[in-house]
Amino acid sequence: DTIPELLARCVAGNPDGEALVFPDRGLRLGWQEFSDAVDRLATGLLDLGLARGDRLGIWSPNRPEWVLTQFATARIGVILVNVNPAYRIGELEYALRHVGVRAIIAADRFKSSDYLAMLNELAGELGECAPGALVSARLPDLRIVIRMGGEKSDGMLNFDDLAATPADPGRLDAATAALSPDDAINIQFTSGTTGLPKGATLTHRNIVNNAHFTTGRMHFTSADRLCIPVPLYHCFGMVMGVLGCVTKGAAMVFPGEGFDPDITLATVANEKCTGLYGVPTMFSGMLDAEGFAGHDLSRLRTGIMAGAPCPIEVMKRVQRDMNMSEVTIAYGMTETSPVSFQSHTDDPLEKRVSTVGRIHPHLEVKLVDDQGRTVGIGETGELCTRGYSVMRGYWGEPDKTAEAIDDDGWMHTGDLATIDAEGYCSIVGRVKDMLIRGGENIYPREIEEYIFRHPAVQTVQVFGVPDEKFGEEVCAWIVLKPGQEATEDEIRSFCQGQMAHYKVPRHIRFKAEIPMTVTGKPQKFVMRDAMAQELS
Ligand code: ATP
Ligand code: MG
Repeated sequence: DTIPELLARCVAGNPDGEALVFPDRGLRLGWQEFSDAVDRLATGLLDLGLARGDRLGIWSPNRPEWVLTQFATARIGVILVNVNPAYRIGELEYALRHVGVRAIIAADRFKSSDYLAMLNELAGELGECAPGALVSARLPDLRIVIRMGGEKSDGMLNFDDLAATPADPGRLDAATAALSPDDAINIQFTSGTTGLPKGATLTHRNIVNNAHFTTGRMHFTSADRLCIPVPLYHCFGMVMGVLGCVTKGAAMVFPGEGFDPDITLATVANEKCTGLYGVPTMFSGMLDAEGFAGHDLSRLRTGIMAGAPCPIEVMKRVQRDMNMSEVTIAYGMTETSPVSFQSHTDDPLEKRVSTVGRIHPHLEVKLVDDQGRTVGIGETGELCTRGYSVMRGYWGEPDKTAEAIDDDGWMHTGDLATIDAEGYCSIVGRVKDMLIRGGENIYPREIEEYIFRHPAVQTVQVFGVPDEKFGEEVCAWIVLKPGQEATEDEIRSFCQGQMAHYKVPRHIRFKAEIPMTVTGKPQKFVMRDAMAQELS
């Protein structure tokens, strides 16, 4: 199916079932109401002259407008460009220019970021942004700026007005009929964990299928209600979350903008959610929240932890203390739509907490060494995946695309993994994060898992720093649990005897927080740079 066909089938099967819930906005839409709202907005976009293949950026935290825009653009074949809510003006300009964004829908603000001020600076006279008017020399393709909320008097197009356009089913159906499942429909930027984000171009076929298999592995039905605290701008929110629900007719429940552990737990309880998504740091934040015990999580059953290495201890607690007996781990990347591995809900607990499960249907996998030779069962190699889920390419970057996807269609993930005889995959770490100390390969994940077991440790990140004698040395950044104390020597003696001597961190720093992407991923390159400066 194309995305609009998928939505139409979902609506036909369950018109009155609950579709979209934003408790903080007092918003509850059934599937038919949701689809009608999508059609009004899509007609508004057609009226602005937007058509199949045009790029429209969305720059907003999790709001209902985001989800409506996702389906309104797909209805008429406009390519949605997910813009990171944490962007500052330079990154925004880069992203919008890079993919030739013609229209942008922007929130007024998010946290301390004034989006409209930044857009104003970029686009100059925003008051002149009537359709067709050139608004910016710095963004030559940008013609249309649509703002959410705020005053209506500033001349910009307003989302609410656009969303009130009477639907024109004839034109919409004609636009939908012209679409092919292999059209590009979405440009998603990667998280920027290892450097500048890359724009992955994805088709309907890529993301609709992946969404289907992701919630399928958790046996989702229209009776399920999924709490989605992860950002919509990222594939975790918009594909695994939103599209995953639409493939099953399950309700999408959003605890609001930005992540707050207590609000998320309260939303799960009040909305009787059966599923919950999160990156590992979100789950540990919820488990350690002061009010944790006060929330009724009795309806929770399943969910996904993904996006970064999932500590075994956290998985065990989620399984035991959050009532998520069928919790799964997923592994994937933006470039592969995203999921390629996921646990089955009935995998033995030991496998479910320590591996990323087995391969998704219709995908192939192999692990290769640095010469490109396939390695054996149990050996470590770079994970490569192939199949329907591999992106079309990085938008406008054929060289980078060719580096990532080889001539035989294998996506080289940049992640190191092992696969056991039963097909369970363990992610060892990123190739870029592996460090070599005096000729020994060291995988930070293993050291992190161990230090994580120290009772005072809330988070730990291990990475390599330059060293004259050994080439690289092991460094650990640790965030302690509130009110806890520990010394460098304590951590070191905790490690000694438990791991080879060369893996015991030489440098240890206690930090108030770890530098993270907006998707909740630790940015080791930022930590490495900071340490290199400190040590030089
Ligand atoms: P960038 O490519 O811009 O540096 P990124 O790789 O973090 O950022 P994403 O596409 O959001 O961008 O994330 C994919 C990566 O996240 C994977 O390549 C992998 O390193 C990591 N990852 C995802 N799921 C898991 C998991 N379950 N366990 C370990 N790592 C994971
Ligand atoms: Mg990546």
